[in-house]
Amino acid sequence: MPRPRLSTARTKIVATVGPACSSVEQLASLIDAGVDVFRINTAHGSREEHVGVLAKIREASDQVGYQVAVLLDLAGPKIRLGTLLTDPMECPLDAKFRLIRGDVSGAPDELTCSYETLIDELQPGDQVMLADGAVTLRVEVVSADSAECVVVAEGSIRSRQGINLPGVKLSVSAMLPRDIDNAIWAAQCGIDLVSLSFVRSAEDVLGLKRLLAEHGSQALVIAKIEKPEALDHLESIVEATDGVMVARGDLGVEIDVAETPVAQKRIIRVCKQKVKPVIVATQMLESMHHSSRPTRAEVSDVANAILDGADACMLSGETAIGEYPLESVRMMGRIMQATERDWKRSGANSIACNHRVHPITTAVTAAATEVAESISAKLIVIATRSGNTAWVGSQSRSLIPTLGVSNSIETLRRMNLLWGIKPFYVEKMDDTSGLIDKICQWARDNGGLKRGDHIVFVTGTGVFKKAHNLVVVHTVP
Ligand code: PGA
Ligand code: MN
Repeated sequence: MPRPRLSTARTKIVATVGPACSSVEQLASLIDAGVDVFRINTAHGSREEHVGVLAKIREASDQVGYQVAVLLDLAGPKIRLGTLLTDPMECPLDAKFRLIRGDVSGAPDELTCSYETLIDELQPGDQVMLADGAVTLRVEVVSADSAECVVVAEGSIRSRQGINLPGVKLSVSAMLPRDIDNAIWAAQCGIDLVSLSFVRSAEDVLGLKRLLAEHGSQALVIAKIEKPEALDHLESIVEATDGVMVARGDLGVEIDVAETPVAQKRIIRVCKQKVKPVIVATQMLESMHHSSRPTRAEVSDVANAILDGADACMLSGETAIGEYPLESVRMMGRIMQATERDWKRSGANSIACNHRVHPITTAVTAAATEVAESISAKLIVIATRSGNTAWVGSQSRSLIPTLGVSNSIETLRRMNLLWGIKPFYVEKMDDTSGLIDKICQWARDNGGLKRGDHIVFVTGTGVFKKAHNLVVVHTVP
């Protein structure tokens, strides 16, 4: 059956593209299995490859007949190791290493990195975490052109793995030239969502928004929360951004990993207060890289993210390089549905106001959900030109299937991030009765609705001049 399907999960699935799912056929089967958003990670691959991946995603969307959103993930100021002389290299406890300037290492114990002025910003006692926290170094002595370090947590490292400096405030700018270039490309080729890694302040987000706007892009900006500074400025960052990612991979290295679950809950809470969609990311079904079944803990993690209030969950290596990309998406969808089925609507779901949406729209949309719940409607339909009304509708977390209806493909694609909103294309928005007829027809043919079922419509365009959104209860004839 074609998408949207009323039976798919309400919570959205973001899947990272990589060698394990890079053909049009594989992408199409992932869309069919429930992927709503594909992430292209600019930390890997060349422009040429990204152009190719984007074209294949759009082709797969056309093939399946469902327009997924594309999220371009900007690597931001992530510091990476340079090329190691011995690769991989063991780093035993108490071994000494030297971080040096430049990008050529002359001995196995000399480490280079992608951030030129790192040595100037380090001080004795600072911790340097390598390979996503696998190895920890402590800086002992800093001289003009090197920083001597000792291994305090042992492990093995490979060339170009990440370097994290928890607690060190770096002066590196929020976007490197490569990020700016990628953002401009995103604007030129109609990317739907752009995320920025290692955001530290609201200004970082606003800078990217300005850049995208200057190049005519309507993409939503997603701030990745993965630095302690971002937690310090969380409220203002969430205020500034269009959406948020709880980027647990780096966050769990930058802060004590034991604190990440509490941080996740706080981030989601602030997003709900400010009506911003939020993605929970990294290691959600980690063991499915090499196993067709997840661990109990991973299943709980996905379920708990939904119960915390996440709009979307993300798969990283599971779909990009894993052995079971399709199984991972299907499993994630199953966990979502099982969790949503048992979702008890609580008073805690009261709807906050958002400056992007008129308070009357918020009130009418919330009331429409109440009406739909109390008459056990089978479908809610929200007509939305910009997607903002659907955004509000998503906040009430109703289990009643909800269509976000628009005549703009771009709006529909962006709606793929919003909890519970199934994007639905119509040619014309202003003919309300035509819209109702068309959707009734679709609901009977594809949505399993029968004569006598109720549909609640939130419309408002072109019915009366100066009228705000209108709630129409329609009964399938
Ligand atoms: P990344 O971001 O995969 O681009 O590092 C997500 C994370 O850090 O969790
Ligand atoms: Mn990250």
